[in-house]
Amino acid sequence: MLIVMEAAATADDVRRVVETVQGMGLNAHPIPGAQRTAIGITGNRGSVEAGAFENLPGVAEVIPVSAPYKLVSREAKRENSVVSVAGVPVGGPALAIVAGPCAVESERQALEVGHAVRAAGANLYRGGAFKPRTSPYSFQGLGLEGLKILAKVRAETGLPIVTEVLDTETAELVAEYADCLQVGARNMQNFSLLRKLGRMRKPVLLKRGMSATIEELLLSAEYLLAEGNYEVMLCERGVRTFSDHTRNTLDLSAIPYVQRISHLPILVDPSHGTGKRQKVLPLSRAAIACGADGLLIEVHNHPEAALSDGPQALLPEMFAELVGQVRQLAPVVGRTA
Ligand code: PEP
Ligand code: MN
Repeated sequence: MLIVMEAAATADDVRRVVETVQGMGLNAHPIPGAQRTAIGITGNRGSVEAGAFENLPGVAEVIPVSAPYKLVSREAKRENSVVSVAGVPVGGPALAIVAGPCAVESERQALEVGHAVRAAGANLYRGGAFKPRTSPYSFQGLGLEGLKILAKVRAETGLPIVTEVLDTETAELVAEYADCLQVGARNMQNFSLLRKLGRMRKPVLLKRGMSATIEELLLSAEYLLAEGNYEVMLCERGVRTFSDHTRNTLDLSAIPYVQRISHLPILVDPSHGTGKRQKVLPLSRAAIACGADGLLIEVHNHPEAALSDGPQALLPEMFAELVGQVRQLAPVVGRTA
């Protein structure tokens, strides 16, 4: 259930509603919006009696929420959420361009790619220090050494860092170095990890599971918000289908669909979405054209020697071309880049 406050409701009115909710043994989540505050109620097993709230001062309406997710829904917050990743806004008019290698392989590689993507116009840097690999014999990432290299990339380029957190054991360590914690496709439904990141108050980039529906993606995001972390961005990275001409099938229809029902920003990752370098530019254009809040792009200075995801990595000059095209397209859809 959602309690929508009147535009003129005072802080005291909001507090009274929160206390009434808590007095019933439930949790209240005030969500301030541009026009009015909504208060989400969680913790209830059955339906909550609307009468307890309808007559409190400042309450405009009480809305039963039929969707299984609550706090991530547009009913809870009408306007788009803008997440700040160390000062870089994601979800506002400016597009977010997250770029870097799949994995941090060495200081030299990470820095070279960092300087190149920074010069081309990226505003966030990505690179995995802990890598989720299908085979236990594949490169697993440099771990702590990789995190230290990422901190160096940030210091030299000024770009905030997005990096993956694989498990609850390393979450605090990764959070010490990262500006944004990425939850990968394979971990989208790792609920203990989501709960932990929900309590940690660092921005989270939540990638869609490779066979997850949008409802499942939003429910995973709900875990983060329900624990109190509202700094959440979603990412469409392709799903597994019968189609085998690309690594995954990038589901761009997810963008307008998510934007209709949720206030959270959503990025598109055409690198994992296609798995093929030549497909990354056209699908980046398509993603921006259909309203994505930004892109996640893998870039490598020597893709032929990359320790992971080489075939989908753009060379720095291809990435520069991509940013140039995105900058031309952005105004067409009312954005800047
Ligand atoms: C990645 O971003 O490098 C990654 C492993 O992505 P995904 O979880 O979408 O496969
Ligand atoms: Mn990758």
